[in-house]
Amino acid sequence: MAKQIQAIRGMNDILPSQSPLWQKVEAVIRASVSAFGYSEIRTPLVESTDLFKRSIGDVTDIVEKEMYTFPDRNGDSLSLRPEGTASTVRAGNEHGLLYNQEQRLWYIGPMFRHERPQKGRYRQFHQFGVEVYGIGTPDIDLEVLMLSARLWEKLGLTEHVSLELNTLGDLAERSVYRDALIAFLEQHKDVLDEESQRRMYTNPLRVLDTKNPDIQAILGDAPQLMDYLGEESKQHFEQLCELLDAVGIQYTINPRLVRGLDYYNRTVFEWVTSSLGSQGTVLAGGRYDSLVGQLGGKDTPAVGFAMGLERIVLLLDTLGLVDDIAPEVDVYVTAMGDSCRIEAIKVAQELRKAMPDLKVMSHCGGGNFKKQMKRADKSGAAIALIIGESELENNQVAVKHLRNNNEQIMVARMDLVTVIAELI
Ligand code: ATP
Ligand code: MG
Repeated sequence: MAKQIQAIRGMNDILPSQSPLWQKVEAVIRASVSAFGYSEIRTPLVESTDLFKRSIGDVTDIVEKEMYTFPDRNGDSLSLRPEGTASTVRAGNEHGLLYNQEQRLWYIGPMFRHERPQKGRYRQFHQFGVEVYGIGTPDIDLEVLMLSARLWEKLGLTEHVSLELNTLGDLAERSVYRDALIAFLEQHKDVLDEESQRRMYTNPLRVLDTKNPDIQAILGDAPQLMDYLGEESKQHFEQLCELLDAVGIQYTINPRLVRGLDYYNRTVFEWVTSSLGSQGTVLAGGRYDSLVGQLGGKDTPAVGFAMGLERIVLLLDTLGLVDDIAPEVDVYVTAMGDSCRIEAIKVAQELRKAMPDLKVMSHCGGGNFKKQMKRADKSGAAIALIIGESELENNQVAVKHLRNNNEQIMVARMDLVTVIAELI
């Protein structure tokens, strides 16, 4: 036998048993963005490598070690997109969507990062995200947080996630703070592990979110970014906190929250859960007012977030919040004998036409009564329709209940739609 080819490590198939749950999550997403008036944008999975280097930052985890980068046949360096923000800005600039305009956009799709696969961390994963351009005031930061809170509400997750919030100040403020932080870290060099020693000069803020307890212990005395904020940054953050209080969204201020991408400024946030082990961040984002300019557009304020769908699906699964998913099939139509086949196909088609929401599966492949009923049962349908010689002759259809003990009934062909409508 030929050797089977396996999927790439860290890249998962979403099987039919799982897809209803994915569809449920996607339906909640679509309903939520629509409730806030956001428009969808779809960008390519592959972009020029420079786009991600210039936006995410050369010394970030993503660009340093996680990107799938390869030469195109003509030698250009391309990368599979590791996230959605850079592509959205690129598209916005390229098509003139951002210049002197407001845009409220959303996207959904696969992202690629060459990470060590583990629970909640994969090499192909999916993100839903929103990106808003042209509004610099904290009310829009609030809006994207309200949109995310609505997702939790609709998914039944409100009790299982919490919001962490921080501000990174503006680039100039952060650069003064950066020097102070480096000076502090230099005094504690002996405690730093190899990675933190390396990051200390390239990306010192990332040392703040280390998982190493020895380093965490000294960070209590580290300078705080809050103390380096200018008046405007401070006000922006205070106003956002006030707005969150006013709409009743609870949050914790976490001064260690810095996020892994270079382009953030001012507001940053993460929604986290304690139910997924160390992969606990389910949605993350913030403000990135300099990125549009950095990628060649006119300076435009921007804020957004991305949510990892695998972690949401895992969370719903872990918490057992998946039971109300409807079966794929309502009615299974069988034909007992070749002479009845065409009539059965017509019956199925008529039902689909009369009841657009009804899920009708036609039996294909022949077989005796027992085989067809087995298939009907396996389909998950509540009702099997049976069309045999005698039904055909009498212009009738037999209606058999598959999920309860109600008697099988004979229904006149012309009454079938009415009867099915009542039963389902
Ligand atoms: P982490 O700290 O978990 O690596 P991150 O800071 O790299 O996350 P972002 O780039 O902000 O994550 O992406 C936003 C969200 O996308 C994450 O909170 C997570 O839910 C999801 N995500 C990121 N990387 C992966 C991955 N490799 N597999 C599955 N989901 C992921
Ligand atoms: Mg990461």
